[in-house]
Amino acid sequence: MEFSLTPEQIAFRKEVAKFAEDVIAPGAAERDLKAEFGFEEWKKMGEFGLLGLPYPDEYGGGGAGVLDTCLAMEAFMYGGGDAGMSLSYGAHTIIGGVPIWQLGTEEQKKKYLPKVASGEWIAGLGLTEPEAGSDAGNIQTTAVRNGDVYVLNGTKMFITNGPTGRVFVVLASTDKEKGHGGITGFIVESVFPGFKVGKELDKMGNRSSPTSELIFEDCEVPAANMLGPENEGFMQVALATLEWERGAMIGGSIGGMERMLEQCIAYAKERKQFGRPISSFQAIQFKLADMKVDIETTRLIIYKVAWLKDQGMSSPIDASVAKLYMSEAGMRVADQAVQIFGGYGYIKEQPIERAIRDSKLATIGAGTSEIQRWLIARMLLGGNKGYPSSMW
Ligand SMILES: Cc1cc2nc3c(=O)[nH]c(=O)nc-3n(C[C@H](O)[C@H](O)[C@H](O)COP(=O)(O)OP(=O)(O)OC[C@H]3O[C@@H](n4cnc5c(N)ncnc54)[C@H](O)[C@@H]3O)c2cc1C
Repeated sequence: MEFSLTPEQIAFRKEVAKFAEDVIAPGAAERDLKAEFGFEEWKKMGEFGLLGLPYPDEYGGGGAGVLDTCLAMEAFMYGGGDAGMSLSYGAHTIIGGVPIWQLGTEEQKKKYLPKVASGEWIAGLGLTEPEAGSDAGNIQTTAVRNGDVYVLNGTKMFITNGPTGRVFVVLASTDKEKGHGGITGFIVESVFPGFKVGKELDKMGNRSSPTSELIFEDCEVPAANMLGPENEGFMQVALATLEWERGAMIGGSIGGMERMLEQCIAYAKERKQFGRPISSFQAIQFKLADMKVDIETTRLIIYKVAWLKDQGMSSPIDASVAKLYMSEAGMRVADQAVQIFGGYGYIKEQPIERAIRDSKLATIGAGTSEIQRWLIARMLLGGNKGYPSSMW
């Protein structure tokens, strides 16, 4: 068992952290306050090579594996401290772009991936609907074939990059009778007739990442934009994406927690009460220790999922354990960080105030904590040997 990163990986992580510190961190607080996406910063992320990192070179990508992509996500959040930009980055590169790379035809890959990799076209995934969240297999959006096009009707909810995106992987029902076995993936461009951005959502955290409804009203999608085989979209998109999501995308949380810990250590050494730095109180020391335990445990399980995927192995139970553990560890760490900062941690001037609002999303998005526990228990009890029908 080998736990060390190569010197190249360590150098790469430092390079990304420095980029994020220089480019992302300076405007992070303002973007949060104004709920604004950083278009200029996004452009620089594309130029730096972050946005297409996992895709092969021939499609404008960097050919990175899952672990290297995870290191980039981790370093991006560590250096930049902007959870919204991190979320938009993950939704674009991983859940938006990876299914096109993994399931797309050569023509689709050539058409879309270079534009996604450069950041020119922002990408996203449209799965969730107003009445189908955890029960994602119950989506109501329909796609009906009409000659050379599929006609889509329905509404998607909570779509990251919805207002800014140009290309979305959208799941729609092509055979209602078959339930989740009758769902097909499509590559939908925002310029297709009948595509509308619905209500933009004002969020508690991750505010620099735009989120909205997407509405399809007789939206015409060329049949050539079907992604993967008909009626197999649910399973195929999940299989193509989930371990990238749980081995790479959620790696940002490691960097976010590490950033909070460093801020807390510095603050605890500097802040004096009762004539002593608060770091001399055991109650504060134990919080720092607990934060460290959460960070290292999260790191181990996410790196494991990434490493397994890079070796061509799959472990659905580890992927769910990683998602569950990281999201709840993130909330614990943010809670302790606010506590260490005391009243100042509750004030918007401190980045720690933002961190607790940002951290909450992970227990909800991409499969809630309850759903992860349910999945893990089902796998333990033998009712399900792999990814079940409801996996998000
Ligand atoms: C900021 C943000 C960004 C998002 N981005 C995207 C995106 O880009 N693309 C996309 O498709 N989706 C996206 N989502 C949607 C996200 O994945 C869903 O919100 C999530 O899956 C939960 O669905 P829901 O909100 O409808 O909650 P519900 O499914 O209605 O759940 C409500 C509560 O009931 C619990 N619950 C539900 N079923 C069970 C059960 N069987 N057992 C026990 N408890 C249960 C849940 O755990 C939760 O506590 C995003 C959401 C947010 C908030």
